Amino acid sequence: MCREWPPQKQGKAHEQKACEERRTALKLLLGSSLALGTVSLSAPQRAHAAALTREQRDQLTPDQVVEMLQAGNERFRTGKMQAHDYLAQKRTSAGGQYPAAAILSCIDSRAPAEILLDTGIGDTFNARVAGNIANDDIIGSLEFACAAAGAKVVLVMGHTACGAVKGAIDNVELGHLTGLLDKIKPAIPATTYAGEKTAKNAEFVDAVAATNVRRTVEGLRQRSSVLAGLEKQGKIKLVGSMYHLVGGRVEFFASSA
Ligand SMILES: [Zn+2]
Repeated sequence: MCREWPPQKQGKAHEQKACEERRTALKLLLGSSLALGTVSLSAPQRAHAAALTREQRDQLTPDQVVEMLQAGNERFRTGKMQAHDYLAQKRTSAGGQYPAAAILSCIDSRAPAEILLDTGIGDTFNARVAGNIANDDIIGSLEFACAAAGAKVVLVMGHTACGAVKGAIDNVELGHLTGLLDKIKPAIPATTYAGEKTAKNAEFVDAVAATNVRRTVEGLRQRSSVLAGLEKQGKIKLVGSMYHLVGGRVEFFASSA
């Protein structure tokens, strides 16, 4: 069922035609058969006025969802974001949510996943915690997103110049932050790096952040039989990525499953 978009007052036939056009638009936006460049060129002219319906979400494969997120980042990176009608998205999603992906990213103010991936209300679940680590509550949230609510992709997104990673390298101790940084620390010795291994070395910080993302993805597989099982069945995909503050690119890691 097509809802919202510009209000339709011109009768049923017109509405049906408009509905079909909207489906075509969605296919253009989400379809895997099109090159990303084509998608990024065609999408910005369209207002993103409706949240995903269950039918639309369910027909996407995990790989198509990854492509959708990549295309969204390409639009963001090149300044061709969709014209989001958040009020329309709010209305269309109020009765139920059918997000295509669940994103685990850092709290960093410069890395808001929905904006970097040009997604709207109802498109993605979002968990944010410093250093994008996974504890039991985060894992439970991702299990809900995938097993109960039908998301097809778990995207773990780290970012360059991450303060939490720097804090872990510097052994910062501060209240509850100390315990959080302890969850990032194993990524430090696990990072192969020949140069200066300090928080002052931006290249090393980013290398540790990338290792931390990979460890988080692997940790989700090892600690969650729910997520690992869904991935084995091909129903979901766990994917790591790094957002580059300079340039705006979200670099998606090759699948290690
Ligand atoms: Zn961060």
